[in-house]
Amino acid sequence: MQETKIILSEKEIPRQWYNITPDMPNPPKPPLHPGTQQPVGPDDLKAIFPMALIEQEVSTQRWIDIPEEVLDIYTLWRPSPLFRAKRLEAFLKTPARIYYKYEGVSPAGSHKPNTAIPQAYYNKKAGIKRIATETGAGQWGSSMALAGTMFGLDVTVYMVKVSYSQKPYRRIAMETWGATVHPSPSTITNSGRKALELDPNNPGSLGLAISEAVEDAATHPDTNYALGSVLNHVVYHQSVIGLEAKKQLAIAGEYPDIVIGCCGGGSNFGGIAFPFLADKINGKELRAIAVEPSSCPTLTKGDFRYDFGDTAGLTPFLMMYTLGHDFMPPGIHAGGLRYHGDSPLVSQLYKDGIIEARAYRQLTVFEAAMVFAKTEAIIPAPESSHAIRAAIDEALLCKEEGKEKCILFNLSGHGYLDLAAYDDYLNGKLVDFEYPDESIKESLAKLPVIK
Ligand SMILES: *Cc1c(COP(=O)(O)O)cnc(C)c1O
Repeated sequence: MQETKIILSEKEIPRQWYNITPDMPNPPKPPLHPGTQQPVGPDDLKAIFPMALIEQEVSTQRWIDIPEEVLDIYTLWRPSPLFRAKRLEAFLKTPARIYYKYEGVSPAGSHKPNTAIPQAYYNKKAGIKRIATETGAGQWGSSMALAGTMFGLDVTVYMVKVSYSQKPYRRIAMETWGATVHPSPSTITNSGRKALELDPNNPGSLGLAISEAVEDAATHPDTNYALGSVLNHVVYHQSVIGLEAKKQLAIAGEYPDIVIGCCGGGSNFGGIAFPFLADKINGKELRAIAVEPSSCPTLTKGDFRYDFGDTAGLTPFLMMYTLGHDFMPPGIHAGGLRYHGDSPLVSQLYKDGIIEARAYRQLTVFEAAMVFAKTEAIIPAPESSHAIRAAIDEALLCKEEGKEKCILFNLSGHGYLDLAAYDDYLNGKLVDFEYPDESIKESLAKLPVIK
């Protein structure tokens, strides 16, 4: 009998994170100081990050040891299962073999605790008492709240206001794990107050919430900032996904032809794809596809250039694909994919043609989510459903072409706290939104000029 899921023992949790930088044909460009436009040094970042994470951020070491204390907490849900999507394959009548890595088994329901836990650990070790961070729909905030409670750190979360009012469940999870949650824009920070002065009804954005959290951390010596995606160290931490998947596929006697992940800031995509890309860079045949929403088409329609990571312009310039730091994405249900920028590592690999990207509209993504829920039983997160759409399309192409490819995708989270989105879909209330090219151009025209 063909096994449905491939389970590793706790002994097989990776002991090291993988950093793709030394394997890249062109390493990513360094972040620049917004004032001097020179590469930022450790001193510039010390106000908001612990040194251990700053060292990781600029590391050119291929492997980074995972601390025992982090491994110990990883065992609460890792290794995560790898499933063969037998029922989905049968439904599609495809000759393709589809596998998915399921990160929804973490206590927060997504891949994000893979980095929240080590970030909390390094901050605690550096003597930090409190973490200030932002969250959109609440996936990152809840992961950080969980990590804070594991290591005895206070956590303050600036939550994008629309989600704060419309999506109470993750806020309740954050508060259950002991975090303090403020709707953003708030009246606590200068960035928040300024935004509210301009527009008292500002619904908030991820970029603005980042400004608030960075300002909070920079103005309190016992407080640091934590980011749930985009930065290099976050992407390395997520490599446990791909490293485990590689072992699991080997048990099944497989190696993927195609690796797929949804892409918000790039961390779960990098997490599953980079350990395989290491082989591709060394000559192995393999495609990796990053999937984004057509309402926030960072890779497929953005520019590759330096931009701020936040709305207020408090962060360093990052060299990345961007739609412009004051880009206001529409309120689609895949809240985790609404960031204006992308990981510099993912961006450079896309620029160099090593990975592919594609964008899908919301309705076709939910159609794929429905098929998945009815065949594989798990109700997927709206974000992850972008990867499912791409996996289904690739499997259907295999059927058309009579090819037996092995497709691997990351199911980055479950959708049990996003059921309101399914309710909207089922009641015909979801609409497609393609961000107009004109608005993208306008937003990009306002970007800082780097000399
Ligand atoms: C946050 C989130 C994403 C997007 O973030 P990445 O950094 O691109 O991985 C994707 N899926 C889920 C379930 C999320 O919570």
